[in-house]
Amino acid sequence: MVVGRFAPSPSGPLHLGNLRTAALAWCAARSVGGGFLVRMEDLTTGAAATEETGQLRDLARLGLDHDGPVVRQSERTDRYAAALEYLVGSGLTYECFCSRREVREAAAAPHGDPADGGEGTYPGTCRGLSASERSERRATGRLPALRLRADRRQVTVTDRRCGVLTSPVDDIVVCRADGVAAYHLAVVVDDAAQAVTQVVRGDDLWPSTPAQVLLQELLGLPTPEYLHVPLVLGPDGRRLAKRHGAVTLADLAAAGEPPGLVLGALAASLGWASPGEVLDASQLLERFDVDGLPPGPTVWSG
Ligand code: GLU
Repeated sequence: MVVGRFAPSPSGPLHLGNLRTAALAWCAARSVGGGFLVRMEDLTTGAAATEETGQLRDLARLGLDHDGPVVRQSERTDRYAAALEYLVGSGLTYECFCSRREVREAAAAPHGDPADGGEGTYPGTCRGLSASERSERRATGRLPALRLRADRRQVTVTDRRCGVLTSPVDDIVVCRADGVAAYHLAVVVDDAAQAVTQVVRGDDLWPSTPAQVLLQELLGLPTPEYLHVPLVLGPDGRRLAKRHGAVTLADLAAAGEPPGLVLGALAASLGWASPGEVLDASQLLERFDVDGLPPGPTVWSG
């Protein structure tokens, strides 16, 4: 049985890009009679600042139904702690005292690895610290994050649209210095715990997939099927956001556009409907075609 999911961060209202991804995730699961779950990725936003109600209302307005109760990452921290404990106990992590800025600067330094030295690639500063070096750093008051000892291992991942990617995995952070589990760890633990077999999400996360698959392997968890879908960008070529104008269901409703027209417009942006067509979710499902997804992002001009 296929089980898909949509896993938004409840940090703001869903915009058309999020909604298009949600609609595609729903179609991918429902088109094969699969289950569809919604999980709130609120580890960093905190349950207090949640936009969960509004997000769920918008999904319902578009007819994107889900099964079972909504799961919140903020309520699952014991699971992440157990996975972290396993990684630490297996010697697969190390404490890292570097700030983001130090990582950036060290990655750009000549003795860093220029081939892989893109922003954020960890240069290994804390990988070989001795116990006394660690206590010296602790004594300065800095709390360590935990990094995965990935050793630039090459991991191959497969995606229904993006094909095959083999990439070295960086020493990613698995637990932040404030003790909060990092996204990569949480997503892998949650997908397995929820028996998710199909991950459909924006293709900005495709490059992170090797790291997540490595974590699945190390934790003995299954790897789901992946489908990374193109993003929706604003006219400036940047990811769609509030500053781009009417980009949420509420904005569009205020401008007189009902949900069916919005779903039609989302389908039109994929080449699956004509401009101005009104669609409901079941009609979108009939037109859903993985092979017909556009090769690149869509620029939303309103
Ligand atoms: N929470 C992530 C986001 O809102 C999605 C993570 C995922 O689907 O794996 O971009």
